[in-house]
Amino acid sequence: MNINMNGWIGIAVLGLAATAASGQGAPALVFEQLQYAYDALEPYIDAQTMEIHYSRHHQTYFNNLTKAVAGTELEGQSLEALFAKISQLPVAVRNNGGGHWNHALFWKSLSPQGGGQPDGELLAAIEKAFGSFDEFKKQFDAAAVGRFGSGWAWLVAGADGKLFVSSTPNQDNPLMDVAEKRGAPLLGLDVWEHAYYLKYQNKRADYIAAFWNVVNWPEVAARYAAAKK
Ligand code: MN
Repeated sequence: MNINMNGWIGIAVLGLAATAASGQGAPALVFEQLQYAYDALEPYIDAQTMEIHYSRHHQTYFNNLTKAVAGTELEGQSLEALFAKISQLPVAVRNNGGGHWNHALFWKSLSPQGGGQPDGELLAAIEKAFGSFDEFKKQFDAAAVGRFGSGWAWLVAGADGKLFVSSTPNQDNPLMDVAEKRGAPLLGLDVWEHAYYLKYQNKRADYIAAFWNVVNWPEVAARYAAAKK
């Protein structure tokens, strides 16, 4: 356990002990610590939502994923490898694997110093694909608002390097072979009610508008650079 200066308790590397069986060099499942305090994204995302979302929702996906793969041939395989054949795997791996991976990406996509807009190659790629940064945001907002029920909105780099916006239901993501449009997720927004209901209630659009103030563009740009390789 680590206790940071704000007094909240983060639980790190819970997953390390749970991996093993299938061997050496296998990637360990890790429940990473948040890089900021629960209240760091206020007023856009409130501290109570962050605490419950991270320490209960994400933790539960992680724990259930660990259980779902324990002692099976799936243990030790990367989540990316599992996602590529997810249609053939147990639904618990799909739901909890996606739940863990998506949230890990989500936390890193947010920053108290976030907001504004990207620059450099990422901005150029966004302008090329969507015409302008504002048009990209419009399409992303529409995907996030339009997702019926629970799911995610994404900015994705396709195999051809071109960017597109998409949405997936539940805890699916664009790496999964069940996704309508596949590619490398660069930015994801959780639009499950648990992500916003305490502060925004039914006003999902207000939560989405607030989200743009805390997007960690350097992180998204780094993901884009990695996807291009
Ligand atoms: Mn969530």
